[in-house]
Amino acid sequence: MKKIETSKGVRYQLDPAERTDLIVCAQNVIVNTYPISDDGYATALMTVSGSIYEGISYKSETHTLTMHAEVTALANAAIHGETDVVAIVGPNCHICKQLIYENGLNSGIDIMIIMDEENGPHDVPISEMMPYAWPLLKGKSES
Ligand SMILES: [Zn+2]
Repeated sequence: MKKIETSKGVRYQLDPAERTDLIVCAQNVIVNTYPISDDGYATALMTVSGSIYEGISYKSETHTLTMHAEVTALANAAIHGETDVVAIVGPNCHICKQLIYENGLNSGIDIMIIMDEENGPHDVPISEMMPYAWPLLKGKSES
């Protein structure tokens, strides 16, 4: 991965092999969605160390307690002491975009959303997906 300094913070551009690994990891864990296999969503994220952590949707009959794949992936990384996320496979719902954005707010990393599209992967920084995000990036525009 390549580190890039921007006015929105630090970004990391994954190389094609890393991007492919991340997408394949997300695709491979879809069979582990809970409680029904392959009935939900899966994702994978990469941290600054190059580690990959997968996440799956974990549904509850209450709906309120359902955890999205991004939530479990971020928690999976945090459980292993890794919170500096550089990229995550999307698309992501708006609630998860907020959580991803807040992770970046804490780490100073403008997290890349890896969109696996028909014509190939496409990277979009979370800051471009949330132009009027809350809370604002304090001090980052001053540096
Ligand atoms: Zn979500």
